[in-house]
Amino acid sequence: MSSEKFDEEYFADTYHRPEICEKCGAKLEFVGVGAYRCIKCRHEMYDDYGKVRNYLEKHPGANAGEVSDETGVAEKTITHMLREERLQVSKDSKTFLKCEVCGKPIISGKYCKTCGDLAKAADKKKKEQRERKKREMMIQGVGMVTHEDDGKRRFDRDSR
Ligand SMILES: [Zn+2]
Ligand SMILES: [Zn+2]
Repeated sequence: MSSEKFDEEYFADTYHRPEICEKCGAKLEFVGVGAYRCIKCRHEMYDDYGKVRNYLEKHPGANAGEVSDETGVAEKTITHMLREERLQVSKDSKTFLKCEVCGKPIISGKYCKTCGDLAKAADKKKKEQRERKKREMMIQGVGMVTHEDDGKRRFDRDSR
């Protein structure tokens, strides 16, 4: 991800970005991935994203409820971060997210691999159906054009 600047602004509201230093009240500067540093006393503070990320780095097996309890960040926000794939829990993690189709534990996104593949296959089928319809319409269109051409030719012939 290249535009941290954009992320910083976009998620300022969603992730409760800290405005001023809790120790001395001075301004904070953004130092990356949800972390902010006081320009005066160098005290570091985190927004929701930073808090969750930090916690997960130390407790990779934690589930959303646990993270929420420990960081004070709403479980909904945590789930959202994972769904958007801004966060990933480690592969050996306990149940964190569930596949929306079969309920199997997953580490990011909406579906497990199986259901993701199925969804992709269904998508492909839909696309093929759309293509077929387009082809049918094109054939009809060609038919019409041919008709018109015939008429024109006939007309030309007649007028000659
Ligand atoms: Zn400070
Ligand atoms: Zn699934």
